[in-house]
Order: sequence, then C-alpha cells, then structure tokens
Amino acid sequence: MNEVQKVGIVGSGLVGTVLAIGLKKMGYEVDVIDRSSDIRMIDFSGRSINLALSTRGWNALDKVGIGDEVREISIPMNKRAIHKIDSSTVEQQYGVHGESICSVSRGGLNQKLVALAEEVGVNFIFDCPIFDIDLKEAVLYTGENEMSSWDAMPYDIVFGADGAYSKIRARMQRQSRFEYSQHYLNIGYKELTIDADEFSKHKLDSNSFHIWPRGNFMLIALPNLDGSFTCTIFMPFEGDISFEAIRTEVDLGVFFETYFKDAAPLIMSLKKDFFTNPTNSLVTTTCYPWVANDKVALIGDAAHAVVPFYGQGLNAGLEDVSELLDLLSKYPKDWATCLEKYQISRKPNADAIAELSDRNFIEMSTLTADPNFLLQKKIEKRFTDLYPNYWLPLYDRVTFSSGSYAEALKLGDFQSSIMEEIMSLDNISEKWDSKEVENMMLRHF
Ligand SMILES: Cc1cc2nc3c(=O)[nH]c(=O)nc-3n(C[C@H](O)[C@H](O)[C@H](O)COP(=O)(O)OP(=O)(O)OC[C@H]3O[C@@H](n4cnc5c(N)ncnc54)[C@H](O)[C@@H]3O)c2cc1C
Repeated sequence: MNEVQKVGIVGSGLVGTVLAIGLKKMGYEVDVIDRSSDIRMIDFSGRSINLALSTRGWNALDKVGIGDEVREISIPMNKRAIHKIDSSTVEQQYGVHGESICSVSRGGLNQKLVALAEEVGVNFIFDCPIFDIDLKEAVLYTGENEMSSWDAMPYDIVFGADGAYSKIRARMQRQSRFEYSQHYLNIGYKELTIDADEFSKHKLDSNSFHIWPRGNFMLIALPNLDGSFTCTIFMPFEGDISFEAIRTEVDLGVFFETYFKDAAPLIMSLKKDFFTNPTNSLVTTTCYPWVANDKVALIGDAAHAVVPFYGQGLNAGLEDVSELLDLLSKYPKDWATCLEKYQISRKPNADAIAELSDRNFIEMSTLTADPNFLLQKKIEKRFTDLYPNYWLPLYDRVTFSSGSYAEALKLGDFQSSIMEEIMSLDNISEKWDSKEVENMMLRHF
C-alpha cells in the first residue's frame, strides 16, 4: 500500500469525531462525512438523550487531549438513587473507591466534539449521505439519493463510524463469509423530562443516577446542566404492562400513580412527552471481520451495537479509538498490521460487553430493588477492601477499570459462583462481615 495520507470517516457521531481528532493530531488529512446537517446548528436547549461516560471513555478523550473540555459539560454521579415503589429511596455508591460515572448530553457532547475537531483541522462534509463504498479501493459514493447518479470520493483509508445501521457494514455483508447477527429486545424505550424548578435547580439529587426498578420495566433519570433531568422509561412493547397497553391519558395516569408515584408529579409534560415522543427499539449487532482489504474498517456502533443497560456502548466505541491510536503509534504507518491487530484484539471484547449489557437489564430493573442484592454489594465491598488483589466487583471492573471486557466477563462469572454459595448460607444477613464468610471466600483463591 502507498503511504496513507487521506482518511475518510463516515459518521460525525461521537466515535467518528474522536477518531478524527486522534488521527488529525497524528498528522493525517481527515474528512468526516455525515448525511445529517451540522449538529451545531441544532438547538437542544441544554438537553437531549444523556449518556453515562466512564473510565474507558475518559481514557480515549484524554488520549486525544480533549478530556478537560468534556469534563466541563458533564455531571458526576457517584451513586444510584433507587426509588422504591413505596416512594422511599435507597442510595448505593457506584465504585468501591468512591468513583463516579458522568452524565453528559449526547447532543451537547457531539456539538463540542465537532467544534474541537474543526479547531484541529478536521474537514467536515455535512448533508452528504454515503450510499455505497468500493471496498477494494476505499472509494465512497454519495449523491442526491439511492437512485440518482453518484459522485466518487476516494481515500487511502475509510472508517465506517456510521452507527448501528451502517452502510459500510451493509456493503461488507455482501462479501462471502462475512458474519453478521442482529437481535432486537422486546423492550423499547421512550424519553421523558423532569424540568428544572423555578430557580433552575434540579428537583432531585443531581449527583445520582436515579432509577425506579419495577421488574421487567423501569424508569431512569440522568441530570442535565440546565437543572432538568432526561428520563427514559424502558418497558415491553406488548403485554399487560407495556407501551401498547397504555392507550389513553387515563391509562397513563393510573400507570404512573401505581408504579412511579413519586416521579409522576415531577414530569410536568408527562402526557405530551409520552404520547408525542417515539417509542424506540433496542438492538444488539455483531459482525466479523471488521476490516476489508487493509483499507476499510468498522468502528463504534457500526462494528458492535449493544443495549444500553451497562452504559458502555459509547465507552466501548471510544475504547476502539484508544486501541487503534495506540497501535498506530506502535506501528507507525503500517496500517495493514494496525487494522488486523485492532480487529483481533477488539472483537472478543465487543462480544463480551454485548453479553454483559444484555444481562445487566435484570440487575438494573429487578435486582437493585432486592435487599439481597444490596447485601451482596456490602459483602463484595468488604472483601475488596481486605483483598484488593483478589476481588473487584464486576460493575467496577467494567465501568472503572481498563482491563478487558472479556476478562471482566470471565472473572465476573467466577465471582458470581462464589457469591451464590455465600448468599445461600443460613443467616447470611447477620454474619455477612464475619471471619467465617471471609475464609469461605478466601478458599477460592
Ligand atoms: C437509550 C440509549 C442510551 C445509551 N446510553 C449510553 C450510556 O449511558 N453510555 C454509553 O457509553 N453508551 C450509551 N449508549 C450507546 C451510545 O449512544 C452509542 O454506543 C454511541 O452513540 C455510538 O456512537 P457512534 O459514533 O458509533 O454511532 P452514532 O452515534 O450512531 O453516529 C453515527 C453517525 O453516522 C451518520 N451516518 C449514518 N449513516 C450514514 C450514511 N449512510 N452516510 C453518512 N453518514 C451516516 C449518522 O448521521 C451519525 O451522525 C446508549 C444508547 C441508547 C440507544
């Protein structure tokens, strides 16, 4: 391959822009192409879907030198506030060492990233839908629409950072032996809003991730900088308790009064939000290979979309960026080696976070309300404090460490088998901090 000069990134989402900043700072010429208009032209009034950023995301943002700018628009959440059905609240610290995850507006973050990328010289081409790609030559094709004549955009390397329904991946799918799977949950989600109070302050604690776990449905709320909270209700599409079952304002009122009594009065625009906002679906996609002809690669959701219950989709995509940039530093200009090592290293981790994310719906929507779950967290915390080299709770391993997701999944399963044994002991709630329990756990190491 001739020396790579010009990189085209399809997608000006969160992963594409961070990748662009990293590559531009390494000296490449970078175009970012998006079918949408410039996100900076859209007024979010300080709110949009929120994302929780954690260690892996921060590592990537710091690596490309923009962590501090993003910290300015994020709100740390050091605990879960669990709102029980009787309207009482229990708090649960996130990290065993007091760590926080951070709430950030997706729209606000994307605007900031585009601005920062432009500052370092990344070239954005908006309103430019990509309809196809020549995988051998790394040529993108754009035009008025699918049926019109297309213009060719040639590059040395192309990244498909074009999200869960990637066009670049769609072209790869037409190659022989390309593996692809997609799985939709029967749970959908809808956005609701808790407005700020009359003093523009938050109506709930702003440093908590609020959760109303109710079995196979739940409500969550993440803080925004303007004093509001973005809430998301997750619920089955069909069934007794489902989006389909709530047809009228009366149904909605009864439902919220029954299950979210304390939240209902805070969501002033509940009826409007519920009946106007779309009900969205949740998909997991897996595919392989992620690289074609040493010239075209998938990254972020285009390579691995996961359901949002571990808050890791973006963090995983940003970790892709981190690893790729590390490889490019280690093997300068050797793109073939870098892309091959990138996909080999990332794929098992993408599969692991997909599995962990799927499983975590149960933890969020059911277990967080279970006293045994809270007891288990206490036992784990005590053992971690005593034997930090032996134990780290799974949540911390996924969220607050940089160890691989695949290892987190494996060690999580091992720890879970030990906890099952411990939790089955008679009177565990009385002797959870005893030497006997400690010794039983130690026997496994
Ligand atoms: C409800 C919900 C909550 C979530 N919460 C979290 C969380 O708390 N923490 C977390 O880490 N992750 C979370 N995620 C996941 C996170 O949103 C995604 O992983 C992340 O946004 C993926 O970024 P991306 O840049 O890969 O793709 P996207 O953000 O989807 O960006 C893709 C870009 O490509 C452009 N594009 C698409 N097709 C074309 C085309 N043909 N031509 C040109 N441009 C194109 C699009 O316009 C878009 O700008 C959540 C997801 C959901 C749905």
